[in-house]
Amino acid sequence: MTNSFLDSISKQLHDANDSLACTIEEQDYSYQSFAAKVAGIQSKVQRTGSMNIGIVTQNSMETYAAIIACWLTGKAYVPINPGYPVERIKDILQTSEISTLFYAQEDEQVNTLQTALGDIGFVETASLYGQECFNTFPAGDKTAYILFTSGTTGRPKGVPITFGNLQSFLDGFDALGYEIDKADRFLQMFELTFDLSIVSFTRPLMDGASFHTLPSGMIKTLALYQVLEENEITMSLMVPSAIGLLMPYMEDIHLPKLRYSQFCGEALKADVLQRWSQCVPNARIDNVYGPTEATIYCTALQANKPMEQQHNGIVGIGAPMKEVEICILDEQNQTIETADQIGELCLHGKQVTAGYLQNEMQNQVAFVNMDRRQFYRTGDLVFKGQDGLLYYVGRKDDQVKIQGYRVELGEIESAASKLAPNNPAVAVGYTQEDGQWHLALFVQDNPVAENEMMQALKKTLPAYMLPKRIYTIDQFPLNQNGKTDRKALRLIAQQNHS
Ligand code: AMP
Repeated sequence: MTNSFLDSISKQLHDANDSLACTIEEQDYSYQSFAAKVAGIQSKVQRTGSMNIGIVTQNSMETYAAIIACWLTGKAYVPINPGYPVERIKDILQTSEISTLFYAQEDEQVNTLQTALGDIGFVETASLYGQECFNTFPAGDKTAYILFTSGTTGRPKGVPITFGNLQSFLDGFDALGYEIDKADRFLQMFELTFDLSIVSFTRPLMDGASFHTLPSGMIKTLALYQVLEENEITMSLMVPSAIGLLMPYMEDIHLPKLRYSQFCGEALKADVLQRWSQCVPNARIDNVYGPTEATIYCTALQANKPMEQQHNGIVGIGAPMKEVEICILDEQNQTIETADQIGELCLHGKQVTAGYLQNEMQNQVAFVNMDRRQFYRTGDLVFKGQDGLLYYVGRKDDQVKIQGYRVELGEIESAASKLAPNNPAVAVGYTQEDGQWHLALFVQDNPVAENEMMQALKKTLPAYMLPKRIYTIDQFPLNQNGKTDRKALRLIAQQNHS
């Protein structure tokens, strides 16, 4: 099988000219320079023994070129955020059997990693250039990337996505009717450990268009607005939290060049979207939905009239993409056929992963077989409206989204209980008036000082998973069923938020 998305990228790199491929840290790179970099890195990737390559997620052209070099060589990449705690990185490297990490250039974080990961090979890509890249046409069932998401048991779960999964997503993307050409300029605002980044750089490269990342070292809101405006972005994919951040500046935002404005990653509020639509008068606006397990996103709604397509103020998530089949299950695991009845959304089809990496226990929990087909249980509660479209209602479990990042509250609790094994710990997610989510951790009769516990948590959890505050409580409040009253704890966190 040939992978047409790789054929398209490969063609753009062979025809390499001086048109713009990307803008990173405010510097422009042509297809010519991007192709030379991919070719240089590819020869090193080819000589690397393992099938999975770790890539340090630096905001550099080399980082993106390394991903493309892996793909054209038929290898998978695993993004490694150097800011993550070393223990977490070790766990990821071990689970995905990685022996080599590629990085763009040395900095303090890379040096620390080099010291901490003695048995891992490091390859610097800043000095690598080559003549011509080649395409090995990897088989569709080969892994293209592995992303790690928060896990309830305290260990992140590896989600392997194949070239076939990714191809199906990209076919589904095109079937949504976006007309992309060379002149398009894509926003790429995501950390590379987040799969929304992948469509943001892959899709433009297929058509000789460009992608534009946010400069680091700037306040994110400012960086976002600056890139949208100064880089004349025509296609933007953002998490709803991003427009939450832009809210105070809405009156001054005017982006007539934006043709497509997509949102994904968390519930999108209809009133916020209504305001945003005035900033982007010429854009088609879409709310897209999906978990990492089903490759980037897998349902879509054209949402230019958000007030007409919402439930409880949350914009609908529309219809499944081309290669995606859905079913909605009730609590007895029976398929719901009637409109307006809420159940868990389950996904099947060519976009959906075959299962977590080396994690049979999680596979048993997360997948269900129906009519000899395997469905992924999303944990998302939805219903099908009378209009036939899907509406998002909320989560079935304790998963929350922080700035778009998926966080299992159980993972924070598990990290806390390693520090105070005899004292129950409960993590809660709560929102403030501006709609942003925050985390708080409650520990019963905590024997560890709160600031010490916070310091210790920093060693195992990535920054976005750290609670805003740790509370010590003599006795957890109980609800009518005698269970810990999470609602009451959430209220305490909300009231004491500063
Ligand atoms: P991730 O695997 O990080 O992409 O997170 C997937 C989860 O994000 C889903 O299971 C949903 O809970 C949430 N999510 C993604 N997109 C949307 C959306 N458009 N509306 C509501 N929730 C969403």
